[in-house]
Amino acid sequence: MLRVAVVGGGPSGSCAAEVLAKAGIETWLFERKLDNAKPCGGAIPLCMVQEFDLPESIIDRKVNNMKMISPSNREVDIHLDNPAEYIGMCRREVFDAFLRNRAADLGAHLVNGLVQSIDTGKNRQGPYTLHYADYSGTGLTGELKTLEVDLIVGADGANSRVAKAMDAGDYNVAIAFQERIRLPPEEMAYYEDLAEMYVGTDVSPDFYAWVFPKYDHVAVGTGTMQKNQSLIKGLQKGIRERASNRLLHGEVIKVEAHPIPEHPRPRRVVGRMALVGDAAGYVTKSSGEGIYFAAKSGRMCAEEIVAASGHGARIPTEKDLKVYLKKWDKKYGATYKVLEILQNVFYSNDPAREAFVEMCDDKDVQRLTFDSYLYKRVVPINPWQTLKLTLLTFGAYLRGQAFAPSKYKPVPSAVRSEVEMAAIHAADAAAKIAGANGLDPSHGVSADSAEPKPAAETGEREPLLAGKS
Ligand SMILES: Cc1cc2nc3c(=O)[nH]c(=O)nc-3n(C[C@H](O)[C@H](O)[C@H](O)COP(=O)(O)OP(=O)(O)OC[C@H]3O[C@@H](n4cnc5c(N)ncnc54)[C@H](O)[C@@H]3O)c2cc1C
Repeated sequence: MLRVAVVGGGPSGSCAAEVLAKAGIETWLFERKLDNAKPCGGAIPLCMVQEFDLPESIIDRKVNNMKMISPSNREVDIHLDNPAEYIGMCRREVFDAFLRNRAADLGAHLVNGLVQSIDTGKNRQGPYTLHYADYSGTGLTGELKTLEVDLIVGADGANSRVAKAMDAGDYNVAIAFQERIRLPPEEMAYYEDLAEMYVGTDVSPDFYAWVFPKYDHVAVGTGTMQKNQSLIKGLQKGIRERASNRLLHGEVIKVEAHPIPEHPRPRRVVGRMALVGDAAGYVTKSSGEGIYFAAKSGRMCAEEIVAASGHGARIPTEKDLKVYLKKWDKKYGATYKVLEILQNVFYSNDPAREAFVEMCDDKDVQRLTFDSYLYKRVVPINPWQTLKLTLLTFGAYLRGQAFAPSKYKPVPSAVRSEVEMAAIHAADAAAKIAGANGLDPSHGVSADSAEPKPAAETGEREPLLAGKS
């Protein structure tokens, strides 16, 4: 009888464990931290709700308005006209716990444990012995235990230990940094069903920065490639400054950082070990989307295990597991390529970013983008639309050269008048002077007073950034 360990109880691991347990396969799902709040924007596409049978209760907000903001602060509104269409915003601690518990309810053995090392057997073919610290007791260090299995699904994210054990090879990572900021009610109301994306060298030389609404706060963050890692705090300051009039008197309640894979690992299946989700490297370029692809890859990998093992009657081979890779690459290879090209073209410099935002004003571009994001389907476009998009790209690019700013400015407030803002800034300046003179400034945490905490203070048991393990 086949025994499978799924290491990592995020979306990829839980969705793999769910399929395996449902098929009656002996499955252990390891999660080091059952209340893990993965640093994440938490945006999920609409199709995921139905495809993964997600209850509405785990979706904090249904966003049907997006605002794209260019380097020169040109704001383009994108609205989903159909009220049934939305981008779901989730808290990962709620989302992940739901998927994990569902797998456990279906029969997976949920282990609150940190897998520390793996003996992989001759030629990494197994059987595999996992050495783990079991945290189900009260001790901080956990009780050291072992478990022998025939097959491992590595769903343990960007710092994957399974990837190390199987010698999967490295990948480049981007670094994402995010602050959770609680806003006064007027400002929070503005973000009720709206997410903002900012582009510009000031907020990210490689991707975009975001203000995403959560249930009682906004997630404000940015990402950049590993080579620009040293810039990350400056870039976060950039997004806080650009959005400062909309995050007025926001209180930083959490600071977090995490690596995001930029491409798949060189080897995703070795022996009877298969990687899924971030461990494999399935985050898309341009959008930095990974939740759906994590869940989907976990499911597809597990479905292959179920089929190849005859519902757990025999142990699948490396060749069997590689069928999952073939199917995955066939289904999503083109999507990853297109998004990589878009990233290279539109995030390369400020004129290109101006052009990108301008293009997003076009209804055809909006429909195309939303359909491919919300439904994960390639939308066919007719020759006229192709011609229009090509002309639009060139035109927007040329105009982008003229509009790209030499200096970045904060976007105006969305809920207060200029006069009101001026009065607030004057009061803030006075409070700062009073503070500098030893008096008690009466205002809350301002954008530049909240220093990011080191990763170690964010409550994780594991190192947050790649290369620090
Ligand atoms: C700041 C930021 C914002 C993002 N925003 C979005 C977004 O809005 N939308 C989107 O789609 N994607 C977003 N992503 C990407 C998304 O978070 C990931 O792609 C997704 O979480 C991958 O899921 P996963 O299950 O593969 O890995 P993870 O979610 O990383 O889960 C891995 C799990 O394994 C556990 N684990 C790790 N090591 C061990 C071990 N040795 N033993 C036991 N357990 C272990 C961890 O505790 C964790 O729960 C964002 C990423 C970042 C960093």
